[in-house]
Amino acid sequence: MEGRIITEEAKKRLDSLFEAFSIVAEDTQVFLCDMKHDYSRWSKALVEAFELPSEYMYSAGTIWEEHIHPDDRKAYSEGVNAIFKGEQSGHDIQYRAKRPDGEYDLITCRGMVLKDKDGNPEYFGGAIRNHSQRSYIDALTGLRNQYGFFADLQSNIRNKVPVRIGMVGIGKLTEINEVLGYDVGNLVLQYFGRFLKDKVTNRGCAYRLDGSRFAVVSALQSDRDYVDVYEDIRTHFRKGVHLDIYDIIVELNAGMIVLDDFNLDDQTVYSCLNFAYEESKQVKHGDLVKFNNELIEKNKRHFEKLHAIRASIPQGFKGFSLVYQPVVDAETEKLIGVESLLRWKNDDYGPVPPDVFIPFLEKDPLFPILGEWIMETALCDAKKLIELVPDLIVNINLSYTQIERAGFTDTVWNIIRKAGFLPEQLCLEITERCRLLDMELLRNVIIALKAGGIRVALDDFGTGFSSVGLVKELPFDTIKIDRGFVQQIEHDEREKRLLNHFTDIAGTFGAKVCVEGIETSGMRDIIRKYGIHSFQGYYYSKPVPIDELLAMIKDGRLNTP
Ligand code: C2E
Ligand code: CA
Ligand code: CA
Repeated sequence: MEGRIITEEAKKRLDSLFEAFSIVAEDTQVFLCDMKHDYSRWSKALVEAFELPSEYMYSAGTIWEEHIHPDDRKAYSEGVNAIFKGEQSGHDIQYRAKRPDGEYDLITCRGMVLKDKDGNPEYFGGAIRNHSQRSYIDALTGLRNQYGFFADLQSNIRNKVPVRIGMVGIGKLTEINEVLGYDVGNLVLQYFGRFLKDKVTNRGCAYRLDGSRFAVVSALQSDRDYVDVYEDIRTHFRKGVHLDIYDIIVELNAGMIVLDDFNLDDQTVYSCLNFAYEESKQVKHGDLVKFNNELIEKNKRHFEKLHAIRASIPQGFKGFSLVYQPVVDAETEKLIGVESLLRWKNDDYGPVPPDVFIPFLEKDPLFPILGEWIMETALCDAKKLIELVPDLIVNINLSYTQIERAGFTDTVWNIIRKAGFLPEQLCLEITERCRLLDMELLRNVIIALKAGGIRVALDDFGTGFSSVGLVKELPFDTIKIDRGFVQQIEHDEREKRLLNHFTDIAGTFGAKVCVEGIETSGMRDIIRKYGIHSFQGYYYSKPVPIDELLAMIKDGRLNTP
């Protein structure tokens, strides 16, 4: 080393290289180290987020190491030492780094060494990606995404800025995807996003929320103005838009709400907006529906119910239970697995089905605890089943919000270890909503789970707009075909073609296929011909409590291998 103090000239070179680096890296954070002086410059955003001493640091590696989770520190420091000793020309590692509030963020760090003209290491530079730091931009449309929407909404509420919020969605996007292909579906979304943005420029901001739904937030205008703009957009899309080689007629639905009561929280505002939107879709044939208090009264009991469910999480999961639905081999019809399904009930509200409360709860900070309870309970029950059926696999549903937590895979390993369960007998099901996550994070999590022996399935295949893309990107063991695609298969040729198409895709990417919702022997006989691996459905059994399932196995109502 040429002394610790960096020369003016070396610093200038570092700066110009750093700037070039930052431009290329776009929205990831970068670092660059002059290795001779061990002097680095780091992106401002990183310095601020982790409260590092300065953008310019001597021995930045040692400073950063302090922030790294004790369990991940050894791998990090070994990697960095090897680079400085010239034994390694780069690294690509993932670790947890501590934020000033004490929480850990999941980080991927990729770096490489640049050598001088004599081949000696001169710079070490790279990109740091913080998976816990959410992107506010939707990759497909370039609009602000759901997280951006909530951030802006929270700020409007905090600063008491009255606004009008609209939600507008494309009807039948799933059908466009199925019939014309996913690329065309994506074109429709992009076109719609651009159109909406142009319509509201100077008046408000457009967002893409989720799948086929968009939002607009703007300063208060009259209801009439809003209806007029919406009707304009609607007429345009009704006439048909020309995309690729197709003329596509797009039907829309829309809801709106006026935000002038700042005692509400963002989730409540969103629920109300959603409610108006659903009313437009289900009852009003796509006309713009404005949310009002009458609708609130109608839904009050619904919200109270959701709050009661949430409140039972910290009360020892009171009211929650799991039921299990058999999964059978499509050929032999013998029991090869079970899927655990969540239930909730109490005296006031009776039983409430999970798809009513899970979408409401999954973004709640309490949800991860419920997720852990589900996994612990399911593994404990599955052990009793495995005594009777040794090779049985238990499927557990995950919400995408569980996966994005730092340390998610560690939580899974801990639960498995504590339960004394074999990872090979666990299959985690994720739905297409997981595409709301950072793809790189999701892929790393899936690869880590699979490396430890856990299986991973994609649930409800075909219901979202990006199923094929996901199967291509991520190494699923199984894809599960939603029962909506096979309900009419005994009478509808199109469902047969669709099934054929789905099994082709799964086959191409080496995944097995499970078909859900087998209700009759007729369905079974037809579906069987498509090279399906397993079946699930009322024809074999409804989801039942563990004791009943054990009894069904013991008395031979279920065939076992
Ligand atoms: P899913 O994962 O697609 O689960 C299959 C759903 O189809 C279950 O509804 C099941 O009872 C139902 N089903 C199975 N066979 C048939 C059939 O032959 N005919 C008909 N009509 N329906 C059938 P369920 O139990 O109401 O669950 C609904 C959804 O709630 C699940 O859909 C899953 O997305 C979610 N869910 C359930 N448990 C959990 C959980 O523990 N965690 C998470 N994150 N989500 C869960
Ligand atoms: Ca499932
Ligand atoms: Ca499913």
